[in-house]
Amino acid sequence: GATPHDPDCIFCKIVAGQIPSRKVYEDEELFAFHDIAPWAPVHFLIIPKAHIGSMMSVGPEHERLLGRMMALAPRLAMEQGCNPYPAGGFRLVVNTGAEAGQEVHHLHLHVIGGPRPWLKG
Ligand code: 5GP
Ligand code: ZN
Repeated sequence: GATPHDPDCIFCKIVAGQIPSRKVYEDEELFAFHDIAPWAPVHFLIIPKAHIGSMMSVGPEHERLLGRMMALAPRLAMEQGCNPYPAGGFRLVVNTGAEAGQEVHHLHLHVIGGPRPWLKG
């Protein structure tokens, strides 16, 4: 939709198209886009379109949505150039709270991977 759920939230504005992003995926309830400051060759974020502040705001009503976010990650990771499991793979990270490094208070799943030529084995 064109109206953010939380008008002060940058990820709500990305979902609404009010802040541009490089979209990876979209459906009725999820949105995925490349991180603006990637930590690795592949780094994108999967977020619910609805505003959920963090994992601390998750309740039983969100279990299906969280399952969809997790289940979507491997498919998009492969599409975005992560190498196949098990030699390749990816990390899934959800920072929760300031002491975990959470900076944006709209739940997001980091998907991080891609070729790491400096790793051996
Ligand atoms: P956190 O530290 O909250 O787990 O992660 C927030 C992530 O969002 C960071 O990796 C940061 O680079 C990314 N980010 C913050 N603002 C924007 C933005 O406006 N556009 C995009 N694409 N990513 C953003
Ligand atoms: Zn939001």
